[in-house]
Amino acid sequence: MATSTKARVAQRRRGKTSRNHRPAHEQLLYYFGQTRTDGGGDQKPLLGGKGANLAEMTSIGLPVPPGFTITTQVCGLYYEHHEKLPAGLMDEVHSSIGLLEKETGKRFGDQKNPLLVSVRSGAAVSMPGMMNTILNLGLNDESVEALARETQNPRFAYDAYRRLINMFGDVVVDVDHAYFEAAFDKVKHKHHAEQDTDVPADGMRELCTSYQNVYRKHHGNDFPQDPFKQLELAIIAVFRSWMQPRAVKYRQVEQITGLLGTAVNVQSMVFGNMGDDSGTGVAFTRNPSTGKNEFYGEFLVNAQGEDVVAGIRTPQPVSEMPKWNRATYRELLAIKQKLEKHYRDVQDIEFTIERGKLYMLQTRTGKRTGAAAVRIACDMVKEKLISEKTAVQRVPAGDLTQLLLPSFSPAAKKSAQVLTVGLPASPGAAVGRPAFTAAEAVERANAGESVLLVRKETNPEDIDGMHLAAGILTSTGGMTSHAAVVARGWGRCCVAGAGRIQINERTRKLSVNGRTFSHKDVLSIDGSTGEVIAGAVATQTPKLSGDFSRLMKWADRYRTLDVRTNADTPEDARRARQFGAEGIGLCRTEHMFFEGDRIRAMREMILADEPKTRKAALKKLLPLQRSDFIGIFRAMKGLPVTIRLLDPPLHEFLPQDNESQSEMAKRLGLPVSRIKARVQQLHETNPMLGHRGCRLAVTYPEILEMQVTAIVEAVITCRRKQVNARAEIMIPLVGLEGELEMLGRRVRETIKEVAAAKKFTGNLGILVGTMIEVPRAALTADEIGKHAEFFSFGTNDLTQMTFGYSRDDVNTFLPDYLRQEILARDPFQSLDVTGVGQLVAMGVEKGRNVRKNLKCGVCGEHGGDPASIRFFQKVGLDYVSCSPFRVPIARLAAAQAALVKSTA
Ligand code: ADP
Ligand code: MG
Ligand code: MG
Repeated sequence: MATSTKARVAQRRRGKTSRNHRPAHEQLLYYFGQTRTDGGGDQKPLLGGKGANLAEMTSIGLPVPPGFTITTQVCGLYYEHHEKLPAGLMDEVHSSIGLLEKETGKRFGDQKNPLLVSVRSGAAVSMPGMMNTILNLGLNDESVEALARETQNPRFAYDAYRRLINMFGDVVVDVDHAYFEAAFDKVKHKHHAEQDTDVPADGMRELCTSYQNVYRKHHGNDFPQDPFKQLELAIIAVFRSWMQPRAVKYRQVEQITGLLGTAVNVQSMVFGNMGDDSGTGVAFTRNPSTGKNEFYGEFLVNAQGEDVVAGIRTPQPVSEMPKWNRATYRELLAIKQKLEKHYRDVQDIEFTIERGKLYMLQTRTGKRTGAAAVRIACDMVKEKLISEKTAVQRVPAGDLTQLLLPSFSPAAKKSAQVLTVGLPASPGAAVGRPAFTAAEAVERANAGESVLLVRKETNPEDIDGMHLAAGILTSTGGMTSHAAVVARGWGRCCVAGAGRIQINERTRKLSVNGRTFSHKDVLSIDGSTGEVIAGAVATQTPKLSGDFSRLMKWADRYRTLDVRTNADTPEDARRARQFGAEGIGLCRTEHMFFEGDRIRAMREMILADEPKTRKAALKKLLPLQRSDFIGIFRAMKGLPVTIRLLDPPLHEFLPQDNESQSEMAKRLGLPVSRIKARVQQLHETNPMLGHRGCRLAVTYPEILEMQVTAIVEAVITCRRKQVNARAEIMIPLVGLEGELEMLGRRVRETIKEVAAAKKFTGNLGILVGTMIEVPRAALTADEIGKHAEFFSFGTNDLTQMTFGYSRDDVNTFLPDYLRQEILARDPFQSLDVTGVGQLVAMGVEKGRNVRKNLKCGVCGEHGGDPASIRFFQKVGLDYVSCSPFRVPIARLAAAQAALVKSTA
């Protein structure tokens, strides 16, 4: 802590600045090196991920070039002070540079042995491409000569210098990279050089001069010769990058909120471009695509770090490294072991070799696909690196979606026309039509089209389009390119580096091996094999692996919430059971009325003026409903099934066009005008708040009676065939005690009547309950609870009515709310815990006050959302119910919620 103490003393002497701007105890920067290391891996919020891990790696004895990290808090202060560095910061930077000089034996801006540094950015959460790193900072017209002498390699020195001027110009003062390119081309031309690497030392020296001219011409000022001025401007540039549009956008898409800002890492340089005994690379300690335990990555000989990421040269796989330098490869494998043992998780690392000596430049938790996450968690339990509980907590529940997604069916694959094979950058199967810019992808995807985003390579500005595309296809870039990394993080299918493909953004065409495709042609890409295929290939649902079911078993051991499913058909019910559903939380009956001929009987029923005709129509529907229920009970084999009585507004069933109106007229023997009049009469301005839910049953009790009769008869039929049918009858949209009191009584009476008519004497065990989806129902749950054996929170409607947002129209304004951060997230996807959550909590509490054993569950989108599940666990629900494909996600999320609770 010596540096900051010194700086603090200096500040105290100066007095006023520190008092005005910040409490004196705040440490502005953290040193890491042999002399001392201030921070550690657990300080990510303050030091950013990169800074915290540089400190951590230094502490555990890994070879890390020394440096220091300016905290994220300073970034916060920078913005609080209207974009000014807090007073005293540069003093502390000065003294830390002093410490670095001592440790490295070099001096900043020296004319003999200059210290060079990189300036890097890093927030608590990794944000790929937030700001470009500036390398070689500290060089100027004099120190470059010293570097040339010291390394006896003038070309290297001038190359380093011209790179600095270029990066600094581009990143710090916003001079367009193209101007530097043009200057480079001139020099290349003059020296008859084809590649950058062919330019001789003299050319590089000339380039330093012409780059400085470019800098002056387009920025106005000279390239700063004072290394501390360079450093100060670079630090400011990192802070400014925090609020640039692409970074803001990334945080928005990834729903990253509540961070202080970015940290700045200043680190002494090491060089991978000092010759053929030098190099640089990136690697994962395990395969991030499949999870296989193998060292996995790429490296480039004689190159600076930037070259790997930028995809200028094609790197070699690390498995080839032993041929180049066996000792370094062994050292890397040892570091892989050490890192995994220390972090107990997969790491994503950057390394550089300077004249045979290995340096670690970065480590972070490796992003991985859902499939890899599951495999790694299971393997690490086997290897005794982590416990079962940790394994359960390790896999992001939402990422299971990727395992549950379809892949191409092998049969269809056999006859597919494979156009070319790129890199299998992120697994999955995607079928769609090419979009050639991110903007186009966004537009067409929003219009409902399935698009493949096809780009030479992607950059952070494309993330919008990448997010909405079914798949991503690039013609350049490796397994660690931007497209690959981002796609894997999201579980989006991606084929990268398909070099045979030529893309013409202007004409919206791509050609490959003599064939041309436009934005109208369908292509299929296989992210697991890298294949690019003409036309649409059929997909299949996944087979769930041994590791998957192992993880699910562990999850089931730790969770306390039951997981049910929303299913309306025997087929959905069966699928959900395979995914582990423990019952049906919501079986909607309206879908049953649309099928085939049923809609006609339904219309007859609605259009009828008198109860007698209505009953006759309902009679036709009864046997159909009964057999539907029998199918579902059979599929659920004794698990409970919550059946909701008719819910939607009647007008949804009405014949709206002339043709079906005259058809109905004929069937009912009425003039068309009568039908038209009735349709007119049933029209509602605001059907969502209109004649629907239990309000229908109040007006037309015959519907309720028919449905309950069908349910009870189905249960009896099943019981007589030794199928243990368990029904729960749910009355929707109740807001008044009176509604449930009356309708509940009617349901119970009907149950008795049917049982008597069928001479069934056993215990039917049918529960009668309600949906809590009108705010008033939650507020008066102690009254409503008197008449209900269970509550099921219908959080879709409850959200709609609490916010007063029409679910069907919300997209007209919700994007603005999200963009301007008025809302942190879509409340229809993730429960609004603060607002709607109160109603849920209150409903549970009040309900259980009058009925201790009141069963409480939730149905609606939120039942499958991990963040919402955490909340449902907290308020003590008995179960969540979600769509069949989300059942495994809910099981895992419920286990994670239970584990959080037990460790909190
Ligand atoms: P990003 O966050 O975009 O990965 P980094 O700060 O990690 O950016 O740096 C970009 C590249 O520069 C990486 O390849 C990194 O290894 C390299 N680099 C950063 N600092 C140094 C350094 N001190 N010496 C050598 N290479 C460096
Ligand atoms: Mg990096
Ligand atoms: Mg509802």
